[in-house]
Amino acid sequence: LPKLPHKQQESSEPRKRIAVLTSGGDSQGMNCAVRAVVRAAIARDCEAYFIHEGYQGLVDGGDKICKASWGDVRKFVSVSGTIIGTARCMDFKTREGRLKGAENLIINGIDALVVIGGDGSLTGADLFRSEWKTLVTDLVSQKRITQQQASDNGHLTIVGLVGSIDNDMAGTDFTIGAVSSLHRICESVDNVTSTALSHKRAFVIEVMGRHCGWLALMAAVCTGADFVFIPEQPMDREEWKEKMCADIKAHRGQGRRATIVIVSEGAIDRDLKPIRSEDVAAVIEAECDLITRVTNLGHVQRGGVPASYDRVLGAVQGIQAVDVILKSTPASDSKLIAIQNNMNAPVGLMEAVQKTKDIASLVAAKRFDEAMQLRDPYFSLLWNAYCHSGFRPASTPTNKRLRIGILHIGAPAGGMNAATRTLARLAINAGHTPVAFPNGIRGLLEGESSELGWLQVANWTPRGGSEIGTNRDLPDVDYGLCAYQLQKHRISCLFIVGGFEAYRGVAQLAEQRSNFPAFCVPIAYIPATISNNVPGADYSLGCDTSLNAITEACDRIVQSAASSHSRTFVVEVQGGNSGFLATLGGLSVGASRIYTPEEGITLKDLEQDVAQMKTKFIADSHRKDSANVGRVVLVSDGTSKTYTTEMISAIFTEEGAPLFDSRTAVLGHIQQGGTTSPVDRIHAVMFAHRAFFWLMDQCESSRQGGSGPAIYTKDPSSAVVIGTTDGKVTSTPVQDLDSKTDWVKRRPRHAWWHKGFAYNRLLSHYAVIPETQ
Ligand code: ATP
Repeated sequence: LPKLPHKQQESSEPRKRIAVLTSGGDSQGMNCAVRAVVRAAIARDCEAYFIHEGYQGLVDGGDKICKASWGDVRKFVSVSGTIIGTARCMDFKTREGRLKGAENLIINGIDALVVIGGDGSLTGADLFRSEWKTLVTDLVSQKRITQQQASDNGHLTIVGLVGSIDNDMAGTDFTIGAVSSLHRICESVDNVTSTALSHKRAFVIEVMGRHCGWLALMAAVCTGADFVFIPEQPMDREEWKEKMCADIKAHRGQGRRATIVIVSEGAIDRDLKPIRSEDVAAVIEAECDLITRVTNLGHVQRGGVPASYDRVLGAVQGIQAVDVILKSTPASDSKLIAIQNNMNAPVGLMEAVQKTKDIASLVAAKRFDEAMQLRDPYFSLLWNAYCHSGFRPASTPTNKRLRIGILHIGAPAGGMNAATRTLARLAINAGHTPVAFPNGIRGLLEGESSELGWLQVANWTPRGGSEIGTNRDLPDVDYGLCAYQLQKHRISCLFIVGGFEAYRGVAQLAEQRSNFPAFCVPIAYIPATISNNVPGADYSLGCDTSLNAITEACDRIVQSAASSHSRTFVVEVQGGNSGFLATLGGLSVGASRIYTPEEGITLKDLEQDVAQMKTKFIADSHRKDSANVGRVVLVSDGTSKTYTTEMISAIFTEEGAPLFDSRTAVLGHIQQGGTTSPVDRIHAVMFAHRAFFWLMDQCESSRQGGSGPAIYTKDPSSAVVIGTTDGKVTSTPVQDLDSKTDWVKRRPRHAWWHKGFAYNRLLSHYAVIPETQ
């Protein structure tokens, strides 16, 4: 990113005139993308334009196309749907409609277009661009534009962002809005589950997704549903009835009181005949003898506040769209900003659209496995994980059954329970015994343990906190006693979930193997901490739940600040020496400034920030909507011992008067609690699934004969961190992470999200000059 200009250069010709439109079905997070496009464009000396009502506004022109200023996109981040409007526009499907669209762009001098929509919208965008030259020629020959205008507008740059709740676009792992929609679904299914449990009922829940089963599959994974129907994995007509009823009966046989079946709206059987929710409910009633209700979630799935994930995705992709526009040449293809393996980057727009169409063709040709492979990489992985989660009779011979020790270490974090449930179920299904040590190492030292049962963990997936209890004690409290208790409980391998302390604990166990044979067992560790400060994992469990808690709190705080007129809130978030929550939280809530331990804070910074803030409030006072202005600044709690949250706020109040005042809000432990977010649930299931099979492989290769311990390994690669690195699920030996760890500051030496510092500056910390000057 370039150095930020200190003020908008109004006098010089803009580098580009960039218009943004939203098209097709609305999705949560579209507004964040629009805001980012507008601000990134202005920050980089371009002009930004709104095109209202999607392609219809492009075709109609007039006041549907208008210049957008920095302040016009304030308050966009927390609003669902699309503020600039969307439409399904038949006119744009005709050449005459596109001709009018081209004329309107040329009249307004617009030479670049960002289209935010689904595959239909992006297909239209690519067609428009491919026809551009002939459209311009026709406009000249019809005397609708001059030759000069034609030569000034010989080229149109188009960049697409995928805004869709369906997550159905090939080439990108997530579309803007899919995660928010999953939030709505999970909230609803969690709510329905409580009534189903009360009445011992069955519920069939139909979710959106058109021909893509992503929402349905993720909802099933996130809520622990009993069965799911997705278009990519159809079954024969009789087969689905048998399989579903067998699973429901098996789960009821274990004592489960509720039955939840998720049906994707595009669900089909192998003959491509639709499977309807009502048919599914009728089969359950008839074959399983359960009172069954159908709930179709419908359009609530499009609403509600955008999830933090979508806000950040929209912000980053909006910035990148402008970057791609500025780098493009007339020879460049149209690009789509895609997220692949946790990296946002441009990919060919038409290739992505074509691949999406190919999936539909493969399903139509009944080549289901190939269709499955073209979905995002997590899709097949989570399908496998889901298929393993139902009850199965124990498959491991009695003499090979293991006792898996489970420990939670450190502060609670969302996803700890979901991970433990997944591992416990997989273990029980295979005939092994999951042995939980209550309150982590403390429980182990005290010799407490509890064998987890299949039904006991049934509703753990959404629950925040730690059901088995967690504690900060580490093995070094008493290595000897730890070893004794592990031996006494005949533990063959360890599954540890927790934060940086847990990571340190795993490293201690690995180090002490030569002294204590009881530690010579495979150890799988899943990072779970809201600070996201463990090396070897892009995302620790709990950090997404926490970001959503911060986002929700800040939305309320901004509302209060705005109502109080000209107020800034300095909001303190947790994180210790890791600025992850402040950085991604800043993008999510549209913070005016973030302070992080990584970047530090100086007196000079504060002086500049007060000046920036004053400039912003002066700019506001010249706007018609100046009555409701409130801002938030996020401070990570480990940023500075001197410039504390209170002090920053006091400086803002003192120096900002009479333009604005400041208050503080310390979010504290609300960041650690609450219902686990869908993203954390997905990660928990995915990582625990990997951990279980990794442990089984390790135990198999470490199996000993004779009278010693059945499992014994001192191999350094047998103690690992399980997480995603560069978007792929990995198991990295703890030993290999040593050099990547700043043990003193308790964080990785490098983290992918550090680029968020610049994104925050770009979107929020830009000095605007008042529009009237
Ligand atoms: P969603 O995934 O939410 O349905 P979408 O972008 O796929 O979004 P569509 O209704 O398919 O939604 O497309 C939105 C608009 O894009 C259409 O109303 C039309 O204006 C334009 N569009 C779609 N396909 C084409 C096409 N082949 N040629 C020109 N314009 C198109």
